[in-house]
Amino acid sequence: MQPIPPGPTCQSCGRPMSSDQNGGGTEMDGTTRSIEYCSLCYRNGMFTEPNLTVDEAISRMQERLRAAGVPEPVIERNLWAVYRLDRWQD
Ligand SMILES: [Zn+2]
Repeated sequence: MQPIPPGPTCQSCGRPMSSDQNGGGTEMDGTTRSIEYCSLCYRNGMFTEPNLTVDEAISRMQERLRAAGVPEPVIERNLWAVYRLDRWQD
């Protein structure tokens, strides 16, 4: 089952890229949009929080989805999906 909503998601935090008001993070030149990471996670070719761990990313997503009123079983599935994001692959 796919996390909701469908479509490309930030490969760091799992937010849908379509919900990023800035249209994605920026690469090193400061203007090219990243297709992988959102503007909250990635700026000027670097992660805004380089020391963020996958566990922190997961607990933030949990808080965000709970605040949005997403049902717990759906939240569970989304949390597991975070482990598959590119940033958290070794
Ligand atoms: Zn992100």
